[in-house]
Amino acid sequence: MAKAVVIGGGWSGCAAALASAKMGCDVILLERTDMLLGTGLVGGIMRNNGRFTATEEMIAMGGGELFEIADSVARHKNIEFPGHKHATLYDVAKIEPAVKKLLIDRGIDVRLITRAKDVKMNGNRIVSVLTDEGDEIEGDIFIETTGTAGPMGNCSKYGNGCAMCIIRCPSYGPRVSIAAKAGVKELMAKKSDGSVGAMSGSCKLLKESLSDDIVEKLNTRGVAVIPIPQELQKADALSQKACQQYALKEFAENVILLDTGHAKLMSPYYPLDKLRRIPGFENARYEDPYAGNLGNSMRYFSISPRNNKLQTEGVDNLLCAGEKAGPLVGHTEAIVTGTLAGYNAARLAFGKEPVEIPVELAVGDAISHVREQMNTPEGIAKKYTFSGSVYFERMKEKGLYTTDINEIKKRVEKAGMTNFFEKKFI
Ligand SMILES: Cc1cc2nc3c(=O)[nH]c(=O)nc-3n(C[C@H](O)[C@H](O)[C@H](O)COP(=O)(O)OP(=O)(O)OC[C@H]3O[C@@H](n4cnc5c(N)ncnc54)[C@H](O)[C@@H]3O)c2cc1C
Repeated sequence: MAKAVVIGGGWSGCAAALASAKMGCDVILLERTDMLLGTGLVGGIMRNNGRFTATEEMIAMGGGELFEIADSVARHKNIEFPGHKHATLYDVAKIEPAVKKLLIDRGIDVRLITRAKDVKMNGNRIVSVLTDEGDEIEGDIFIETTGTAGPMGNCSKYGNGCAMCIIRCPSYGPRVSIAAKAGVKELMAKKSDGSVGAMSGSCKLLKESLSDDIVEKLNTRGVAVIPIPQELQKADALSQKACQQYALKEFAENVILLDTGHAKLMSPYYPLDKLRRIPGFENARYEDPYAGNLGNSMRYFSISPRNNKLQTEGVDNLLCAGEKAGPLVGHTEAIVTGTLAGYNAARLAFGKEPVEIPVELAVGDAISHVREQMNTPEGIAKKYTFSGSVYFERMKEKGLYTTDINEIKKRVEKAGMTNFFEKKFI
């Protein structure tokens, strides 16, 4: 049987593992920490703005399992917050065990606390990955989904220092770029001021540390918008964010909280003494990152050059997905690219040509557009997401954004992609 090795168990790695397994590969998924989902462990926002369209396209294409799991553990559905419509918020405590169970039920060999630290090559092909424990894991095809966050040195050099985030570099060892180990020269995303990387855009507060009326609002509506007294407003943090879809003035003038189990604070960081001066936040405490008082994780340091089939340029049997595949922000974006990379990995492993998703669909257009953009100096200084900023604008201009599920199904059918990720080719 063809053996696929997925390195990195974030949303993109989980999607890649699932897609390869569905096509008949024997799949090993390596994750350096004790849990799957990576930065998805502290996220939760799905289906907002153009992510709704992308989600329904994937469901119509037969790649919807992970979206359906996120829906099934949602705390709130169809909510609105500034700049964002019809969002679903998954429960960050329930999502990981549910995804892990699905992968194990599908026969995927999920190996936690297993960090890949190097590769063995034969010419332009990876033969095996080597782990911290000294194991050598051979494969026919490899998919890199290690993300772009950290390690600590990058957060210190380009951010405000290690903020002790969910990536937990000191405990589980730094992120390792498999493409770089295989000799690929990677890209680094920039901010509009030319500096490198981008700071993650939200923190989690302990709900128990907030006032009863804020907690009540969160539990019943999913959203709480609390005005910040004028003297405490800080617009400067907006430009640093990875998530440009939240760089709106409402996010500088208010504390915007979303209920994902914890209270998701839509700001990269916020000095605790200032936060505690806002009514209702007198006892506020950070849950993630632990030092959300001073900073957040820095991301987008190692993006692989790739084609629209998500093959990494320069290595014959390596594909990439998620943040690794471009300055793409989001769980939905990671699942979409992960699914295509996993599917194409299986095609390559069984001697078939890999495929692209047609640009008539939002997911195909996004993969192709981001590739074009990331190879230009202006394009690599932006972030791309179905949920806002430049790419959502493009979706609207091209008529790709719709919440009409029947219309989406028709488009998928017209593109010849109905149940595509379900159909076996062997
Ligand atoms: C604080 C925060 C909040 C966010 N909130 C949202 C949100 O609400 N909605 C949304 O859509 N997006 C959100 N995002 C963005 C979103 O989480 C990411 O863009 C997306 O999930 C990235 O997925 P990924 O699989 O590419 O990478 P990651 O999530 O970074 O996963 C990479 C995984 O690879 C593992 N890994 C790295 N190196 C190795 C190695 N050598 N061996 C083995 N494993 C390795 C890591 O431990 C990690 O688990 C948020 C991001 C952050 C940081």
